[in-house]
Amino acid sequence: MLVSESMAMISDRGVHDMRGSAWSAYDRLPVGVCIVTASGMIRYANPTLHGLLGCEPGGLPGRSLCEFDLDRSLPQAWPARLADGAVRWVAVAEMPLPADADGEGADALRMLTVTDVDALCRQEKVSGDGVPSRPGPAGMPMVDALLEAAPVPLFVKDADGQYIAVNDAFARLTGISRADMLRRTTFALTGPDMAREHVGQDRAVMEREGSVQYEAPVRTAEGAMRMVNLTKAAFRDQAGNPMGIVGAIHELTETRPNEERLEAILEQSPIGVSVSRRDDGRIVFVNTRFAELIGLPREKLIGSRARDYYLDSHQRLRVLERLRGGGGVTNMEVQFKRADGSPFWTLFTVNQAVIQGVPVNLAWIYDYTERRSMEEALRDMASRDPLTGIYNRRSFMELARSQLARAHRFHEPLSVFVLDVDHFKRINDTFGHATGDDALRMVAAGCQAILREYDLLGRLGGEEFVVVLPGATADESRVVAERVRRHLARMPIEAPDGTFRLTASIGIAGLEGATDTLERAIHRADLALYRAKHLGRNRVAVFEPGM
Ligand code: GH3
Ligand code: MG
Ligand code: MG
Repeated sequence: MLVSESMAMISDRGVHDMRGSAWSAYDRLPVGVCIVTASGMIRYANPTLHGLLGCEPGGLPGRSLCEFDLDRSLPQAWPARLADGAVRWVAVAEMPLPADADGEGADALRMLTVTDVDALCRQEKVSGDGVPSRPGPAGMPMVDALLEAAPVPLFVKDADGQYIAVNDAFARLTGISRADMLRRTTFALTGPDMAREHVGQDRAVMEREGSVQYEAPVRTAEGAMRMVNLTKAAFRDQAGNPMGIVGAIHELTETRPNEERLEAILEQSPIGVSVSRRDDGRIVFVNTRFAELIGLPREKLIGSRARDYYLDSHQRLRVLERLRGGGGVTNMEVQFKRADGSPFWTLFTVNQAVIQGVPVNLAWIYDYTERRSMEEALRDMASRDPLTGIYNRRSFMELARSQLARAHRFHEPLSVFVLDVDHFKRINDTFGHATGDDALRMVAAGCQAILREYDLLGRLGGEEFVVVLPGATADESRVVAERVRRHLARMPIEAPDGTFRLTASIGIAGLEGATDTLERAIHRADLALYRAKHLGRNRVAVFEPGM
């Protein structure tokens, strides 16, 4: 069964078209097959069953199961009454068919497979064993034959929950060979939570008469999770004690190659894919990647609601709005949360689709948290000075140039100052290079503490820093520079043997004319700095022509 079919099944709106000519698919099966209404009236029977019951071809439709003693509910062997009144042992398995397009109830039709086990049973009767009780490859060839011939996945488990027989259809569905399956339990097929659910259902059906039917996800041979219907009934010894259960996995329609391929493609996608029903938001399909991203097993995801995985309700509402408007979302940045609550960024794409009459949302989530943080880190690494964390020379120049262009465009003032630590060589010589590094970090942080948010601070190299003050004339920036100088001079710096203080000199230059460049302004600030050093250091000098 495929994505679309699992949805059809969950919604009960899927159109199962196995009627009329489609039933002729069973015509050539070597096992008797019939389709009957809830009241036991035969709608269809294949030639094998006609032969088995001694009826003319076409004689069975319209007749009742009771006439042949076939109307029993448990998959067991018993004597059927033939058309001529004779008795023949048959083994019967039954499963309901889903709702018809023309409104018959969901369980209106049943399909029975009827296997001729007469010769075998008579033999066992002779040997005094009665109805065979322990099905399995060795003990019960007739059950094997029945299982094999059935066109749906069937399995038999003993009272301890071990598989003692599975048919070929089961092996094909799950991709687990019969030999591998035997003597194992449901835990080999599915996660522990789901397995416990299965075990609970097994126990329930062993404790009472009749059968149970429920939906559950199964992992298919391709690795995808599919919702299927399971029908289970217990089989008992002659005292009525449960000996195990027989189960059928109910697939609604024959597989369609295209959709099967689609599912395989979705499964292998490195992008998380989910399909959810539009009416109630429940997820009906997820691929492995989606389960990995959310960090939940697929059994848990299937049937849960897509809304639970959004981190931010505003983002969710934005997506919903677009979907309600009939549109979709393409590569929207949306944050989802994992099962452990941790957030992750995705590029999120959702489209609406109708699959087998069921309106669905088809969602693709591409996790780019890692890429995003890596990009940020790389951008950062490229633009920052590793020692102080402020802009390096290259990115400072880039940003400062655009500030300068802006100042020219709006005829606004802008000034630049260059700061150089006084006698920095001595600091290195006295306290060591590591303390020198600390001092440089402190100077950068000290500048930043005084500067405004939109002033740009960069490290030109060594113990030289540069600042652009947009909107400030040279005189205005002198005030700021004085504040920086005073702040640095008061700032205690840790050294191995106590603290020390340092000073810095600052040279300032304002923009000159509409054609002034950043390089020229910095050069003038440098000349002013030279003057400040010359005048005794620990001071601020503004550039003047002739310096
Ligand atoms: P002045 O007052 O004239 O500026 O004297 P100064 O000693 O500060 O000037 P100079 O340019 O002669 O010395 C700068 C020193 O800064 C030399 C160099 O070893 C040191 N230096 C440059 N980059 C770093 C760095 O990243 N870490 C440390 N610890 N020292 C550095
Ligand atoms: Mg220097
Ligand atoms: Mg210096």
